[in-house]
Amino acid sequence: NHARMHHLGYAVFDPSYSHAQAARLVMIGELRHAIENNGLRLYLQPKIDMRSGAVCGAEGLVRWMHEKRGIVGPNEFIALAEQTMLIKPLTEWVIDAALRLQQEWLHTRCAVPIAINLSAVNLRDAGLPEALRALRTERGSARGMLEIELTESMLMEDAEHALQVLAGLRDDGVPLHIDDFGTGYSSLSYLSRLPVDCIKIDRSFVNDMLHNENAARIVRSTIDLAHDLGCKVVAEGVESREHWDRLASFGCDIAQGFFIAKPMAAQDFPGWMEAFQAPQMPSGA
Ligand code: C2E
Ligand code: MG
Ligand code: MG
Ligand code: MG
Repeated sequence: NHARMHHLGYAVFDPSYSHAQAARLVMIGELRHAIENNGLRLYLQPKIDMRSGAVCGAEGLVRWMHEKRGIVGPNEFIALAEQTMLIKPLTEWVIDAALRLQQEWLHTRCAVPIAINLSAVNLRDAGLPEALRALRTERGSARGMLEIELTESMLMEDAEHALQVLAGLRDDGVPLHIDDFGTGYSSLSYLSRLPVDCIKIDRSFVNDMLHNENAARIVRSTIDLAHDLGCKVVAEGVESREHWDRLASFGCDIAQGFFIAKPMAAQDFPGWMEAFQAPQMPSGA
């Protein structure tokens, strides 16, 4: 029963399985080649301080410039990188790419903090803090200029170890942001035990907030509670003026999303910065 076996993932004798396996091996080889031979690009998506309208940072998002497939997004290769330990050189490439940009942009208006996404595999790597320290020292990176984003589920996996690593990173001047907040099973009270500087409300809540009052209440009370715990709040997926205005009325600190800018190639960032005009604050807000 091929279909059933395939569904269960045991279809060793199904010829289509070996095709999939072969394709996977090709992709692993291509990804390794891309990491080692400048085939990746770091895209940047700006973050805006909602009160001042200033660009207060950017998120670094990796892209794979594939010879045949064109620009490939991270959802199509990060999992593979994690399964094959390619995530380690990939993450180091991403971090160094961010630090190189900041070195180039030192003393310009583009000199903003860049947040890097780590995977759970990176967090388990005992060499991570030292690798980060070495890269930052080599590039002369100032405290607070490199930030990390982790999802809640990564922190739940091995909480004690995570706590130790993250406390060390914060001592080194690498702030922690919680990504996709609200999609995991953790609570703010659990997170309050970790050295969290900022939470990023997942875009699903931001999206639902405009037509669902319960989602709006969740966003508003998450912002209030985060503030009480001394954390800043970023809203992800700010796609419209309506999102911006509602979030501003809730006291949200920072906005990120297509309403401001889509992720862009790093070389486009200075020009974008030059042209950027902050959204007008709603009167009376
Ligand atoms: P994320 O960290 O939650 O990043 C935000 C994702 O939402 C990005 O997708 C971004 O393009 C997208 N986005 C931003 N604003 C909007 C918006 O207004 N509307 C909508 N619909 N989407 C928006 P992207 O670049 O495809 O990245 C997907 C995920 O891949 C990221 O989610 C992150 O978890 C992961 N990722 C990206 N770069 C890296 C990396 O260097 N290392 C690791 N480990 N993971 C990465
Ligand atoms: Mg992120
Ligand atoms: Mg996110
Ligand atoms: Mg997200």
